[in-house]
Amino acid sequence: MRITAEHVIKFIEGVAARIKEHRDELVQLDQPIGDSDHGVNMDRGFTTVLDKLPTVADKDIGTILKTVGMTLVSTVGGASGPLYGTAFIRAGMALADRYELTPAEVVAALEAALEGIQARGKAQRGEKTMIDAIAPGIDVLKEAQASGEDFHAAMRRSVAAVEAGMKATIPMLATKGRASYLGQRSIGHQDPGATSAFYMAQVMLETIEG
Ligand code: ADP
Ligand code: MG
Ligand code: MG
Repeated sequence: MRITAEHVIKFIEGVAARIKEHRDELVQLDQPIGDSDHGVNMDRGFTTVLDKLPTVADKDIGTILKTVGMTLVSTVGGASGPLYGTAFIRAGMALADRYELTPAEVVAALEAALEGIQARGKAQRGEKTMIDAIAPGIDVLKEAQASGEDFHAAMRRSVAAVEAGMKATIPMLATKGRASYLGQRSIGHQDPGATSAFYMAQVMLETIEG
């Protein structure tokens, strides 16, 4: 399949809309194990991203994604801004000068994004963060690539893995970020960042399915 800069723009617009729809839910998830701002932070960031998008809409995919990342870093207060910002910047660096992508390039960009989040936040799997949703989704895409599975089918399975990873944060003890301040009391709550990551994965699937 052809994945174009237009798909990337649609994806970003779709993420902004999905985050706005779930803003209050993301705030509520951040209430028991954080400071009740995840939905506000993400909505502020992606609203600013929407304002900036027209200035890069005719540029290469790398430039579009780097602009998104830099906007998130500079407008989102809190841990999620630098983390998602770094993810988009690293994905953009992996796709410099590209106007069209193969599925393999999409997977490589997602891997670069995850590496960026881990370089910045130093969290591993199992620490009750966005990584627990993102990493299993990328595992599925890498396995699918190795076995030659159709990309749409792989994306559907990937999003299911992201959703399962998001739900798996509920019984986890948080050892990174604000939720870690609560110790044992962090157990029993779904991680807000894992939830916003799931919405992004959902929009990615919808974008390639058209
Ligand atoms: P803050 O905690 O500063 O208020 P947000 O509420 O916007 O920021 O984002 C919180 C989310 O950030 C958490 O739910 C978690 O998924 C993610 N997070 C926090 N610290 C880390 C980290 N070190 N690595 C990966 N993700 C993290
Ligand atoms: Mg917060
Ligand atoms: Mg905060």
